[in-house]
Amino acid sequence: MFEGVVQDLIDELGRLPGVGPKGAQRIAFHLLQAEPDDVRRLAEVLVQVKQRVKFCSLCFNVSEEQQCRICRDPRRDPSVLCVVEEYKDVVAIERTREFRGRYHVLGGAISPIDGVGPDQLRIRELLPRLADGQVVEVILATDPNLEGEATATYLTRLLTPMGLRVTRLASGLPVGGDLEYADEVTLGRAFAGRRSADD
Ligand SMILES: [Zn+2]
Repeated sequence: MFEGVVQDLIDELGRLPGVGPKGAQRIAFHLLQAEPDDVRRLAEVLVQVKQRVKFCSLCFNVSEEQQCRICRDPRRDPSVLCVVEEYKDVVAIERTREFRGRYHVLGGAISPIDGVGPDQLRIRELLPRLADGQVVEVILATDPNLEGEATATYLTRLLTPMGLRVTRLASGLPVGGDLEYADEVTLGRAFAGRRSADD
């Protein structure tokens, strides 16, 4: 449709989640009219984010250091570990201010259709974190959908025999959706009202 680099820009933008062809055109035209300094700042931050941001070596949250801010914070309660699917969920739970423990990011959920089994998730990295007896409760905060349920069921069976208190978020979250889309109050309540996973 357009020539050379303008079309390249539209193609690249169109690959971003939630943008689509029309949105990509709109952003491309906005950038063409924008001040060169503004565009340079955007380009710079895109490069920086890929160079600087890594994943925490303990919990796999995003981090600029080897360990993330939450894992490094001595005020966080080391006895409670909250297991989530994605680092976006960490952000959502942090917003509720209900949780003072630490996290473990699985990197997805069990989904046979997509070829994702337990071995594709960071469960292997979770187990050593539970081995020294410091963690007494594991909160399974997976998404309230089929894949999230399957993951929580799998982890309950794996972790309960280890003598850990395994809990799930209280019901009330919008079923079928993503944890990150639940509002703070609902998510905070689900956290406060968590229950034993094997009931
Ligand atoms: Zn961390």
